[in-house]
Formats: sequence, C-alpha cells, structure tokens
Amino acid sequence: MKNGTMNKPSEVEVKPSLEREFTSKEIDQETQTKISVYDQLRPKNEGPFMSAVRELEKKAGFETPIVYFNILVLVMFHVLILVSAYLIFIDRRYYPKRQTFIFLFSLTLLTTFGVTAGAHRLWSHRAYKAKIPLQIMLLIGFLTAGMNDLYNWVRDHRVHHKFSETSADPHNATRGFFFSHVGWMMTKQHPDVLREAVKVDMSDIEGNPLIRFHVRHFKILKLLFALVLPVLIPVVFWDERISVAFLALVLKHAYILHTMWSVNSFAHLYGNRPYNSKINPRENWVLSVFSIGEGWHNYHHTFPWDYKAAELAFPFNGTTNLLDLFAKVGWAYDRKMASPALIKNVAESKGDSPYNEI
Ligand code: ZN
Ligand code: ZN
Repeated sequence: MKNGTMNKPSEVEVKPSLEREFTSKEIDQETQTKISVYDQLRPKNEGPFMSAVRELEKKAGFETPIVYFNILVLVMFHVLILVSAYLIFIDRRYYPKRQTFIFLFSLTLLTTFGVTAGAHRLWSHRAYKAKIPLQIMLLIGFLTAGMNDLYNWVRDHRVHHKFSETSADPHNATRGFFFSHVGWMMTKQHPDVLREAVKVDMSDIEGNPLIRFHVRHFKILKLLFALVLPVLIPVVFWDERISVAFLALVLKHAYILHTMWSVNSFAHLYGNRPYNSKINPRENWVLSVFSIGEGWHNYHHTFPWDYKAAELAFPFNGTTNLLDLFAKVGWAYDRKMASPALIKNVAESKGDSPYNEI
C-alpha cells in the first residue's frame, strides 16, 4: 500500500569540494529505513538459542516474528478439544446429560448472537441502535465466547474493514488461509496494523459506560461467563458431573472460535462476489449456516453499515431474524440498510454475475 518509488541511479559529476560527510546519526536513520519488517519487530536479547531460531524463521520467509507463547496456548487448547471429543463421543464415559446438551446449544446461540449482533453489527459498525437490556444481553453473550475484550475486538475489526487485504489488516487473507484463520494470533502484529489501530476513532466505544465497565472488569467477567458459570449451571441445576460439564464446554468454545475465525479465512477466500468482484470477501452460504448469518461477506464488505450483513434476511441469516424480533419490542431500532436500488446499481456495475442471478 505504500510502495516507495526507487529512483534509478544516474551519473552526476560531483566536485570533491561539495561532498560532505554524513554524521553517524544520519547514517543510522538511513539504515533504519532499510531494515525489514521482521527485523524491526525481532525481540532483542533473546540469547543464542532463540537468535538461531529467529534466523531460521527469517530464512523460512516469516514476515513477522513468531510468538511462541501464543502457539503453546493454542496448541494446548486444541489438544484439549481432541481429548474432550474422544472422552465424550468415543469413550462415552463422559457423555453429557440431555439437559447439558440443551443448555450448551442455547448458550451457543447466545454467544453467537453476542458476537454477530453485538460486537460486530452493533458496536463495530453501528448498523443499528440497541436499548440497554439488549446491550446487556449482547455483552453477556459476547463474554461467554471467551474472546479478547470488546475494545480490542472492535478496533481490530474497524482496521480490518478499512485496510482489508493489506499489511494493515490484522488477519490479512493475502498471507494465506492459515494466517487469516488463526496464524495471525501466533505472530507479532505487522507495524502497519499497529500504526493504523491507534488512529481508529473509538470515541463511541470509550463513551459507552457499559463497555467501560466490561473493559475495567474484563478478566473477572470473562472467567465468570466463559468458564465458571457454564460449568456450574449444569452441576448445580441437573447434577451433571463437573468433568463432563467442563469437557462439553471445551467443545462449545471450539465450535464458536473456529466459526468466527472462518469469517476471516473461508469467507475471504471461498465463494462468489456478486456485489463487488474487486474485493476479496465472498458470499459463503455454508459459513452463514454455522455463524447464523455472517458468511455473506462480499455484501457485508460492500455495505458494512447494513444491519442485515446480507442483502436478504432469508435464508441463513438468523442474526437478522433475531434483530427483527427485538425491533418489534423496540429494543433494536434505527436499523440501517441499503436500498434495493443502490444494491442493484452497485451489483450491476461491480459484481461478478448478472444481478438477477444473485
Ligand atoms: Zn472481512
Ligand atoms: Zn464487519
């Protein structure tokens, strides 16, 4: 996005008397501009072993240094997922009670709704307004996902839209499927992401007392809603074993996280582009089923302020259907949407297929 033009060297006659010596400070600045992104981010004083590892990373072509601690956490999480799946579905001695299944299914809906209708459509895009009871519900739903805090989520998402598929996009899909799905959490952020993130206008988020409360008490709230309560509720109310409640919750988290990560990977790489073929995000109906309506990504990147995040409320757009229900009781209001004429115009001029085939 910011390709400097290199002037070709041309022969000029320089009289010795006009030459001047550069000070060491100037030379330092001069070399600094030539330092690669990898070297700018490379951790200092890591010892001989890690220095050798960093050299290997660099030779292997990593654009930014790896954060090994994050890899360890993510690998441990995935080992836990495999163990849970084995103990529940193959060994079956840890098979949950029917009530636990119903509880986790309902919790999955609440979590997904908290992320899609809350963090995404309401807080990141301001696509509609929500009354306090709905905001509280969405915030709790978001907390049950066990994700980053809302402030960082919204800021990352706004940068993602503004600089999609560039070095300033936190999960830049041009760096490949794995990077956009989960790899972006395993490496240091590109300096362009950090530079643009601080410029994002977050005044609406900072001015929301509910979100301020959420950020101030984030660690304890996350522990409570993403772990303690979902494990204790089945144990207290229908006498589920604590180990079973925990293992089943791990699978619920795995489902939610991979579904939401898929919006950054699958929906940026697989599907058609009927609204704007010049951008990468795609219409992916499979993902729309799993994410209750977040896979219509070509439309969403074309009209990010539309509360439906898709042209149509049907099919596979449960988030929009739920928001329409909340609009009936007045908890969701001022829903913004693109007019049919605007959609048709844009799709006809930029889409990859005739509009009536969409
Ligand atoms: Zn996207
Ligand atoms: Zn978005």
